[in-house]
Amino acid sequence: MSEDCLFCKIASGEMNADMVMENDQVLAFRDINPQAPTHVLVIPRAHIPTLNDLTPDNATVISEMYLAAQEIARQEGISEAGYRTVFNCNSAAGQTVFHLHLHVLGGRQLDWPPG
Ligand code: 5GP
Ligand code: ZN
Repeated sequence: MSEDCLFCKIASGEMNADMVMENDQVLAFRDINPQAPTHVLVIPRAHIPTLNDLTPDNATVISEMYLAAQEIARQEGISEAGYRTVFNCNSAAGQTVFHLHLHVLGGRQLDWPPG
């Protein structure tokens, strides 16, 4: 846990979030500023700041995050219509919270390419 990290605080229960699922490795909650009818963030319990900080030792969490995304899409009823999963890495991509997170977006037609 990193002391000043918002998502570590959500993971520890110190801060509230609208939880969607959790297991021993990852948790998922609704984005506070949703960009689509379904906008869920999947995070590892471990504090990994950005995609650049993945290593062979911690990278298995990525498959756990995608399995969670798949389950969330099913629960939200958007699996068949379609959904998008996004990692933003660092400032040019718009990363604002420096605890790794996977955006799961769906429930409407999503623009491509993104702006
Ligand atoms: P990023 O821009 O870093 O890829 O995504 C961070 C996301 O976290 C944003 O979509 C933002 O709306 C969301 N967010 C920021 N603070 C909070 C919060 O306190 N609770 C929740 N649920 N989402 C948050
Ligand atoms: Zn953190």
